[in-house]
Amino acid sequence: MEHQVSFSGHLIFIGFGTIARAILPLLLSQEHIPVKRITVIAPIIDHNIWFKERGIRFVRQALTEHSFVQVLDRVVRQDDFIVNLSVEVSSLALITYAFDRGALYLDTCVEPWAGGYDDPRLELSRRTNYALRHDVLALRKKLGKGPTAVVAHGANPGLITHLLKAGLVDLALQLNHPLPQNRDGVDWARLCMETGIKVIHFAERDTQVSHRIKQDDEFVNTWSVEGFISEGSQPAELGWGSHERTWPASARRHRFGARNAIYLERPSASVRVKTWTPLGGPCLGLMITHHEIASTADLLTVKKGQSLVYRPTVHYAYHPCNDALLSIHELIGRGWQTQRQERILNSEIESGGGDALGVLLMGHALNAYWFGSILSVDEARALVPFNNATSLQVAAGVLAGVVWAVEHPARGIVEPEQMDYERVLEVARPYLGTLVGQRTDWTPSGNHHEASGEGAVEDWQFEHFTRL
Ligand code: NAD
Repeated sequence: MEHQVSFSGHLIFIGFGTIARAILPLLLSQEHIPVKRITVIAPIIDHNIWFKERGIRFVRQALTEHSFVQVLDRVVRQDDFIVNLSVEVSSLALITYAFDRGALYLDTCVEPWAGGYDDPRLELSRRTNYALRHDVLALRKKLGKGPTAVVAHGANPGLITHLLKAGLVDLALQLNHPLPQNRDGVDWARLCMETGIKVIHFAERDTQVSHRIKQDDEFVNTWSVEGFISEGSQPAELGWGSHERTWPASARRHRFGARNAIYLERPSASVRVKTWTPLGGPCLGLMITHHEIASTADLLTVKKGQSLVYRPTVHYAYHPCNDALLSIHELIGRGWQTQRQERILNSEIESGGGDALGVLLMGHALNAYWFGSILSVDEARALVPFNNATSLQVAAGVLAGVVWAVEHPARGIVEPEQMDYERVLEVARPYLGTLVGQRTDWTPSGNHHEASGEGAVEDWQFEHFTRL
């Protein structure tokens, strides 16, 4: 008989960086799931007294393609929960391992082994998140039902999919538009189509600053420098909307999978897009690639037989903290030769800044509507130690994903799109600051529409967002 997974209370964290430190205090203070033991596996363990006093077990070890089974076998038992918060450790290898051992699993992205993001032997199409997701979907098909493995569940990817659904419901309410249903519940694709949405940005602005400004030859960020550089060096990607009329320069189609997304032959950190968030209004973001561009493009596609009827254009538009923008500028300027120093901003961040992470739904009767979390660094610090605004939004996503997996332990591989958005947001909500829904008359073309005017399809073409 198949083993019924039931959480043992032992969590194994792989990696001990910004996000692991952010989630541990959160996990130890929550009451949704029982936590009996925590083990952390990472090559560098620079823990402070806070972690020591809580009885967390630390294993100083790097996981590699050759050693990971041996290392994990000493720690992992059936019904344990593996949370991958490392860089350079393959998600597919860990998912397969967790599945074989009867353990639960969560990841905040889909990570390849070291060197996988910029392996020169791989053609560009294979270095995209679309391709990494394609491999995860193939593994899901192969493994079938089993212990739950939640993939791509931090803030974005992760919470952003749940914010997207909540934002769509909010917008439908304001438009007095009924929620179309399918056998899974709300038909999100049809809702987008019926409300006339043409473009969706996962629009994020980080306004956190330190009094210590960035030095030359230094990369500064509010979360992983390595993680940011990895995704910034992958090709730019977007779900390609059915309203689009102009094929972007350097854009390519994939020759495998659902083909709902395309990629540009340019590193994603080098593509700038106009966007809007309530934190400062219009701004210029980077079109960093993420898992959610392809998973939400899937969720929001309407087809008739094999023919595409509708899909919005979807992509990330990220204005990182000012010093991270300068760091990217410097990195690209020196031909991607990484800076010698790196600094993650945390306790040195000045009061007042924060992170706005949400969805910008565009092209409907209210013109554009942003829905998401605005969290200040002061709120984040008051809520959970060792956090800035960005890390707490991610940690909230990890916590909610872990809780959901424990509550649904036998679902096999799951993306955020298959989870219950209301339950996930309920768990994450206390750590998200203010949830804001705000309309704006901003457009990328500069044409302003009255509240009642839907605006022409022309105004929402991808080319307007990239034309500077
Ligand atoms: P970080 O760079 O601060 O920490 C990475 C950790 O991985 C470090 O502790 C490092 O020692 C460890 N590590 C490196 N190689 C390892 C190996 N071979 N075996 C075991 N551990 C190893 O990163 P972070 O900011 O904490 O982010 C962690 C992960 O979460 C990254 O993959 C990042 O891309 C992802 N992330 C996702 C989101 C999201 O919202 N979905 C947001 C932020 C970060």
